[in-house]
Amino acid sequence: MAGPSGEAHLTLMNTHTLPPRDEMLTAFLNRDGAYEGVFVTGVRTTGIFCRTTCSARKPKPENVEFFPSTRDALLAGYRPCLRCRPMVRPGEVPSWLEGVMSAVEGDPGRRWRDADLTALGADPTRVRRWFQAHHGMTFHAYTRALRLGAALGRIQEGDTVSRAAFDSGYESLSGFSEALRKLAGAPPTRLDGAPLLQVTRIPTPLGPVIAAADAERLYLLEFADRRMLPTQLRKLGKLLGCVYVPGTNEVLRALHEELDEYFAGRRAGFTVPLASPGTPFQETVWDALRAIPPGETRSYLEMARIIGRPTAVRAVARANGQNRLAIVIPCHRVVAADGSLSGYGGGVWRKKKLLEIEEGGAGY
Ligand SMILES: [Zn+2]
Repeated sequence: MAGPSGEAHLTLMNTHTLPPRDEMLTAFLNRDGAYEGVFVTGVRTTGIFCRTTCSARKPKPENVEFFPSTRDALLAGYRPCLRCRPMVRPGEVPSWLEGVMSAVEGDPGRRWRDADLTALGADPTRVRRWFQAHHGMTFHAYTRALRLGAALGRIQEGDTVSRAAFDSGYESLSGFSEALRKLAGAPPTRLDGAPLLQVTRIPTPLGPVIAAADAERLYLLEFADRRMLPTQLRKLGKLLGCVYVPGTNEVLRALHEELDEYFAGRRAGFTVPLASPGTPFQETVWDALRAIPPGETRSYLEMARIIGRPTAVRAVARANGQNRLAIVIPCHRVVAADGSLSGYGGGVWRKKKLLEIEEGGAGY
């Protein structure tokens, strides 16, 4: 389950490798080609990210944020600019890939299959290899990020646009709902009486997380790039018969604050009320996870013993992986019997960081 090169990802995520913000801002506003490849710029108001030299009109400085790589910008929910095409370095994209790049950029909400790539004249294996080498992610991770960006990229806490849309009724949210529906595949046929879950994106030092909550409880918390996220959204949607809408609420605001404190090394536990419906077995495992104190770990075998099912080690591991509430239900505190970190849905490098934070050594 681990990413192919966890340590490399960690380096990419490390914002300290970026030049000072003032320097990047000056370079971006002056279209300074010397900074090409050093960073990319996300424009919060449009949800688009650009290369430094983009010829588009420059946004207000307070609306931009900088990323050390295209991958980071994508995972933060930004879509590549169609004018400066930051995913496509001049002279670097081979001609056999050009058709694929244009097609994907033109239809970011689409789910691309190997057969589509073949139809565009590209060998799927070759495409995957190129993406891994040039953008540090697989082609599927790229298109998944694009879909997520289309659905969630523009959601910010306190986003007045979606807030206004929400206040004026569901219909005006159709763009978002449509994108989220494509992502989660849970078309609500009728809205009356369906529980409403608000969905927001919260930045963390380990990459953005997606959180879903109603007015009372948190139902989902997952790293935005996790492969399981669409499945989790779909399953939860089916289980609750709920409707997802963009926005925030008291629960999500409290979560954001607690996550900030947690990553700063100032918070051990979370007080946000959780809802984690599952099978009785899953719920037993998830309760047992919450009982593992911060700074400690348990093996899968120990977990099986704790819940009184010593032979159910595999089922425990499975329930652990099905946890929908990353970080707050600490499935990252379960490790292999030999103490190695074993797998983690969000990537082993994140598991390592989370455990380091909880051991008190590495707050952000
Ligand atoms: Zn641009």
